[in-house]
Amino acid sequence: MQTSRRSILKGSILASLAGTMGATAMGASAAEKQAALPKKEYDLVICGLGIGGIVTAIRAAQDGLKPVILEKMSSASGNTIYSAGFMLGVNTKMQQEKKLETGDTVDKFYEDMMKVSQGRGDPKLTRLVAEKADETLNWLHDYVGVKYAVGMKLVWPMLQRAHLTIGEKKPGGTQLMLYLLAKAKELNVPIVYNAKAVELLDNPQNGKVIGVKVKSKEGFEEYFGKYGVVMATGGFSANKMMLTMMAGVPAANMPVRGSHSVTGESILLTGPYFPKVVNVDQYHCGPIHGPTGANPLNIVNTGIAVSKETKRYTDEGKTYVQMSRDTAALTRDNWGYMIVDEDTHNLPMLKNDWFSYSSHKAPVYKADTIEGLAKEAGLNPVELKKVVDEYNAALKAGKLGELTPPNTHKNPRPILKAPFYAVPFQGGMTATFGGPLINTNGQVLDTEGRPVPGLFAVGNAAGGLFYDNYVGGAQLTSASVIGRQIADYVKTLAK
Ligand SMILES: Cc1cc2nc3c(=O)[nH]c(=O)nc-3n(C[C@H](O)[C@H](O)[C@H](O)COP(=O)(O)OP(=O)(O)OC[C@H]3O[C@@H](n4cnc5c(N)ncnc54)[C@H](O)[C@@H]3O)c2cc1C
Repeated sequence: MQTSRRSILKGSILASLAGTMGATAMGASAAEKQAALPKKEYDLVICGLGIGGIVTAIRAAQDGLKPVILEKMSSASGNTIYSAGFMLGVNTKMQQEKKLETGDTVDKFYEDMMKVSQGRGDPKLTRLVAEKADETLNWLHDYVGVKYAVGMKLVWPMLQRAHLTIGEKKPGGTQLMLYLLAKAKELNVPIVYNAKAVELLDNPQNGKVIGVKVKSKEGFEEYFGKYGVVMATGGFSANKMMLTMMAGVPAANMPVRGSHSVTGESILLTGPYFPKVVNVDQYHCGPIHGPTGANPLNIVNTGIAVSKETKRYTDEGKTYVQMSRDTAALTRDNWGYMIVDEDTHNLPMLKNDWFSYSSHKAPVYKADTIEGLAKEAGLNPVELKKVVDEYNAALKAGKLGELTPPNTHKNPRPILKAPFYAVPFQGGMTATFGGPLINTNGQVLDTEGRPVPGLFAVGNAAGGLFYDNYVGGAQLTSASVIGRQIADYVKTLAK
């Protein structure tokens, strides 16, 4: 606290000295140095260059405010650029232009989000996202210039709600970030790279968060935000210690599917303000071949899964999220092998997965017999033959539900036609869902439910919206909705 008071005093003394003495009196080299440094007083200091941070900044600039973005890496490095780039809307301009008969409504979107969060998502935040999604996607399209492909159905709930970011690059999150960076540049939003937020600064008189201490290549610097600070630093999916403590050992043992630079600062730095931190044991995961990054997203929903001990350990009818969770929790070292036959191998829906394995040089074992396959993959040949025979027999008899564990797949496929394949995979960490609880203005709430003055959070840095799983596309969408809310709320303070 003393430090922040000293910093403010120091800042104002320096500023008034510079004003009265003039640049010449400061000495030419000092004045040049001062001019070369970015001005460090802004309306809003935003920590983190993911979708949440940059949408907040763009909207703030549109609202006539002066934001700055501080990014700890040398480029945008969070989960946004790793994402598939799907966002969600129920009746956007883009859907209307395509004359899509979606049959979708805000209420359905809200109900789907609440269902997927097992009723544990904050109802007000969830309602806000459902209600503001269309307006936000229209704005991203019209004002920011994001291009979307519409009309496709995501796995669940099979409505035409998905908006896939497309452009000159591959469809996905990197393309989305390129649009956002171009707009930020057009609006002259300053982005300071290699600037890691390491401490929040407050006014000791009223406790309001007024700035950030930043570690940069030059040392430590301070940035001040007249209306506060936005934590947009992502979740803690790359912080093993935090994962172990809050989400458990299986989660901590998962290879990371996305960014390695999201390490939990929104929880670590806001601690002194006693935020109400929620859902920190919750996360999204999916299958991955950890050593190479190959993605078996659809393969894991075909055939049977065995551990290195050559035992089935999960119900292959579960979602890929649940199967990934089970692989991390129920196998000795978070490794499973999907066993499929030639007919399954040739399914069109698996084409991308095989391409992912070959392009990442990830191993796929292949043999003309099940015993030969086991030898290739380092599994037990006798056990694998037994497991596959039991599975085929149960499938034929309609008794897959009686296996241990049961297989409840809606469209189970036999493993009969050679050659046979074994695909090694792990449960991988996508994103954490927990963080300081926010209200619909993006203000961080304390343990008594009161907004911490001057402190905001957005995206995976904030908690409240997600629990257990998420409707595909809802994370990028909600980060954008909340980012705009923060900027529009700050605009009301600035009036
Ligand atoms: C493989 C994968 C696919 C996905 N696909 C989708 C999808 O299609 N649709 C969807 O809705 N969601 C998807 N998601 C989830 C989505 O990507 C995230 O929810 C979203 O990108 C989070 O954005 P964010 O703004 O919170 O943070 P991030 O994009 O994670 O960015 C945080 C930034 O903050 C920086 N930072 C961290 N600490 C500091 C600090 N102390 N100081 C300064 N900067 C700091 C980081 O370097 C990073 O650049 C996917 C995730 C993954 C991993």
